Amino acid sequence: MCRCGLSAKIVTSWTDNNPGRKFFGCRLFKKRRTDHCNYFEWFDEGVVDGWPKEALIQARDEIIEKDKVINQLTTQLMELCLELEKHEVEISSGSEDENNSVESDHKVGWMKKILGKMSISNA
Ligand SMILES: [Zn+2]
Repeated sequence: MCRCGLSAKIVTSWTDNNPGRKFFGCRLFKKRRTDHCNYFEWFDEGVVDGWPKEALIQARDEIIEKDKVINQLTTQLMELCLELEKHEVEISSGSEDENNSVESDHKVGWMKKILGKMSISNA
């Protein structure tokens, strides 16, 4: 319980000084509200130091980098899906001659396969 009368929340710290260390904090802290009680207490007494600490910081940074890449890929995937939809509309409007539309159908099928695989590996 913090001084606001709320049950304190357990949060994991990812600062350079205390990577992966859990603490109790006021629930209102994360909401960027100024009227919280600033309650703070470490959950574990022990401090991580030396190479395990370095390893945790490194892992944290790698996860942040990978999250960025995943976000970029997700955006690209969504753009490709939109692009694909546009092509499908163009094809179904039937303005192209016979040979062209067969070829386009083939391309759309191929793109769908790739996008399908990407969606699965992203999920
Ligand atoms: Zn509080």
